[in-house]
Amino acid sequence: MDNPDPLGSIRGAKPPYKVTKYLSKLLEVEGIKKQFVPSEEELEESDDPPDPLLEEEHLVFPHCVHKYEDRILIYSSNVCFSNCRYCTRRRMIKKRESIISDTEVDKIANYLDSHPEVRDVIISGGDPLVLSNSQLKNIISRLRNQVEILRIGTRAPIVNPKRITHQLVNMLSKFKPLYINIHVNHPDELTDEVKQACDLMSDAGLVLGSQTVLLKGVNDNKETMLKLMQKLLIFRIRPYYLYSCDHVAGTKHFWVDNEIGIEIIKYLQKNTSGLAVPRFVEDTAERKIPLA
Ligand SMILES: *Cc1c(COP(=O)(O)O)cnc(C)c1O
Repeated sequence: MDNPDPLGSIRGAKPPYKVTKYLSKLLEVEGIKKQFVPSEEELEESDDPPDPLLEEEHLVFPHCVHKYEDRILIYSSNVCFSNCRYCTRRRMIKKRESIISDTEVDKIANYLDSHPEVRDVIISGGDPLVLSNSQLKNIISRLRNQVEILRIGTRAPIVNPKRITHQLVNMLSKFKPLYINIHVNHPDELTDEVKQACDLMSDAGLVLGSQTVLLKGVNDNKETMLKLMQKLLIFRIRPYYLYSCDHVAGTKHFWVDNEIGIEIIKYLQKNTSGLAVPRFVEDTAERKIPLA
């Protein structure tokens, strides 16, 4: 998975350079390369905090964030198939890999027993799909009957489409309603392999949505965003959120003014179907603020 950086990575870059073999073939695309290949700008001194969303303050256990009334978010692991340079949880990417244990899943299940207001569990990470099918099944089956909705937040279909196997999808399809929220930022990430992976999931009744981060030099223009959103619909992925880039230390070179994001959304509203328009939000220490 860790292959030599074809473009010369920066020494001491944190998180380390990591891309799948599949993704390494797409790095010729500038808007994809920028997301995964370290740049000098990351090493600049910064006063920005490592956790501006204050997730750590909302941890009820080491792997469970309860920040919003009716939903919780689980860090299933601190590992991804590929490391995004603007990662909002880059503070968690450590040499030491940590995967949620059965005991911790039990604790979360008990927590849900005493918190009936929680009706939605988001399994996030790291990427939950780095877990084996049986590890995932353990988590999902333990929590399934305690909430109305389960969600998985992943980049696997984009950076490692082969992970979306028949076995995985068969297993997941037993736990509907299950929403799969796919992190995708650039239209060229949507390849034939990704289409196959998405078709497999949709055909099995999993509901696909997207989340995109507005990133300088990646997708901060109208044409790229229009193409991305229209292509998502062809892949049967409903655009959900466009996030303003979180102001995490070391990611400043990716930030885009919210005004530009608002202009892009207005352009989408004017020029394409409402189905293709995500909600533009800024995540903060308190809440997600709708911007357009
Ligand atoms: C974004 C987020 C959610 C989910 O929010 P929705 O608006 O329901 O998609 C849940 N928990 C945390 C900590 C989040 O950051």
